[in-house]
Amino acid sequence: MTRRRKASIIFACLLCVGSTISAVGQNGLDRNDDARRPENYRSQNFLIHTDLARDDAEALLQKMETMLKIISRYWGAPNRKTIECYVVDNLNYWPAGSLSPNVRATVSQGGITIAQGSRRGNQLNMNAIVYASNSYGTPQHEAVHAYCYQTFGVTGPTWYAEGMAELGNYWVEDDTTVTAPDYVIRHLKRSPRKSLEEITDYRQRTGDGWQNYTWRWALCHFLVNNRNYYDRFRPMGVGFLTGRPSTFARSYASRMKELKFEFEFFVDHLDRGFDIDRCVWNWKARYREQKGTRPVVARIRADKGWQPGGLKVVKGQDYHYTAEGTWRTSKDSEEAFADGGPTGNGKLIGILFNDYELSAPIELGTDGTFTATGDGQLLLRCSDAWNRLSDNKGTISVEFMSAKDD
Ligand SMILES: [Zn+2]
Repeated sequence: MTRRRKASIIFACLLCVGSTISAVGQNGLDRNDDARRPENYRSQNFLIHTDLARDDAEALLQKMETMLKIISRYWGAPNRKTIECYVVDNLNYWPAGSLSPNVRATVSQGGITIAQGSRRGNQLNMNAIVYASNSYGTPQHEAVHAYCYQTFGVTGPTWYAEGMAELGNYWVEDDTTVTAPDYVIRHLKRSPRKSLEEITDYRQRTGDGWQNYTWRWALCHFLVNNRNYYDRFRPMGVGFLTGRPSTFARSYASRMKELKFEFEFFVDHLDRGFDIDRCVWNWKARYREQKGTRPVVARIRADKGWQPGGLKVVKGQDYHYTAEGTWRTSKDSEEAFADGGPTGNGKLIGILFNDYELSAPIELGTDGTFTATGDGQLLLRCSDAWNRLSDNKGTISVEFMSAKDD
């Protein structure tokens, strides 16, 4: 006797209303151009119904294709099915009956992805349709959800689904710098800090306000780009999408202190152009107290953030330092010694790390003596704006000797 295995019916919808800053008023409702009707546009992976002008619609398709290429490569699963999207620029151009009242209400403030289909064993048959306002990258955001539904049947826990959708919206391939828009950065810098537990709380629901989306983006951007953590992030995410159980807390259990420290550092220094890869923390570096006649030597690059100075300092102890070499902090600036150029940029500075806390920065220079304000590991860098390290050039070599008591 054979028993037919029933297909399970899946109906899912991700409502991202409120994920974008109120889009009402952004649509140019009183624009004077000729009334348009929604038209259809196609590209390799998308079918778009939109009232956008042809050039804008073609440009959007191109952006969506680029986004899809990046995310499908990241998840290692090519898109197999056309993704259908309704992209609304101006609701007045959509005839009565062309969109349901619910969809009309939704696309004035954000977007929604509605998926339905079935799963029979390994056979997934899902169709997802995107309805999105043409503001704040909502079409790209929703298209990430649609790709996940059609490819995996699910989108993962809210923090992951929404963080990765926002990431897809701003992602530039092979670029580890921050490319999020200013309102996202401003919110993250000004609002009270959210803990990792709060950001990844599994009880969260989608559509709970754009502010929460900024934190989800920040964590996903950080974990996708930081070499200390991305090796675990990808399998964890693929686990979310393919039904293998995994959680954030479990995936990073052995590295949570480091992760928390680096994530907070990222949020503290967040700015357009901040480059995670240049500022990644070196947790494997060795530090030693300077004793005898052998100095502690470090080589410090101008184009990176805090780098290990190799010196373990003791509170109250004086240390002599001598720096050799030159560097510069922009393409056109003059070569400077470690005491910096006339602008104040390019000075060698230090900081003490102790038990995941940082001291205030320590001003150093070409040579001199400093007194350790606490115990800790000494890290060094070339002073410059955190989001403008990429055009820096040069390396300086520094030697440290403990000052002898007389
Ligand atoms: Zn969403």
